[in-house]
Amino acid sequence: MFEAGRPLLHADADCFFASVALRRRPDLRARPVAVVNHVFVASANYPARAGGVRSAMLVQEARHRCPELVVLDVPYAEVEEVGDALFEIFHRFAPAVEPGSVEEAFLDVGAEDWPAALDTAQALRKQVQQELGITVSVGVGRTKLMAKLASRAAKPDGLYSIALQDEPQLRADLPIGQVWGVGQKTFARLENLDVQRLADLDRIPRAQLQQVCGTTMARRLWQIRAGTDDARVRPVRHRDSLSAESSIAGYGRPDHSPEQLLTLCLERVLHRAEKAGLVGNGLTLTLQPAGEELPLRRKQSGFTATADRSAWQSAADRLLHAGPVPPLAGLRVTLTGLLPADQVPQTLF
Ligand SMILES: [Mg+2]
Repeated sequence: MFEAGRPLLHADADCFFASVALRRRPDLRARPVAVVNHVFVASANYPARAGGVRSAMLVQEARHRCPELVVLDVPYAEVEEVGDALFEIFHRFAPAVEPGSVEEAFLDVGAEDWPAALDTAQALRKQVQQELGITVSVGVGRTKLMAKLASRAAKPDGLYSIALQDEPQLRADLPIGQVWGVGQKTFARLENLDVQRLADLDRIPRAQLQQVCGTTMARRLWQIRAGTDDARVRPVRHRDSLSAESSIAGYGRPDHSPEQLLTLCLERVLHRAEKAGLVGNGLTLTLQPAGEELPLRRKQSGFTATADRSAWQSAADRLLHAGPVPPLAGLRVTLTGLLPADQVPQTLF
């Protein structure tokens, strides 16, 4: 038995981009649907997954595997908006929220026992469904790894918990490939030692494991084996940057000039910051050239923190034209150095 702890939640929206797209097309829910980014599948719903479609797969390959696949577009602005609303709900249920991505987070809901955590998790799932029309799966466990394994097992649209008494056996049997953070390199090295599940580590001398995986990874593996892995939700009080992006290729805006894309993204990111009660003092533009070229990044910080849109618009225009602008596939605007508006001295406005 491991040291008793409090239950943590891992909440993770199911096939997020596809679910956001399907809010406008509920008639397609039972059919295989994918949202595409450029030439890759960004997100596939569960019927599409059953047809062999996976994220990051070439669209061409996805269509080949699943000829009845329906490809939907979703404005990135809408994805961002739903993501923000999702986190707003997370914060309503949990005093401490640690974001993992735009659509998943660890939550400490303050529950002292498993039944209380499960009740809260169920209420959270219901609220998200009602307010946003998407499903979120929730896992409950004593450490972050346990909560994450539980949410994976809960998918789609489910709730799953790993009880304290089941944890030792589960850890012993856990396939190394499922340990979050173990990459292909470490996996291959451990396979060479005939380590397939966590309990196989018990027969590897410590010095040998350190030599094979490096000190940091070896320590991490021992901690996971011993059940002393991370069990603390580290709340992010506020985000220090926010982005908005627009792509020409993905969302059918071939007629938009770089200046129009810039204005669209800037408006959205300022709107999101304002809603979150934050103001920034820096700006990063990421230009995605239409061809195979790498993105171009132009940034500047140290601006006077302000919510004034026209000030940001001129700063953004200057950055855009600080160098040549190639034909674009897309553009991203990131507002950086965010601080709560009430912490920024008034004289700065
Ligand atoms: Mg997800």
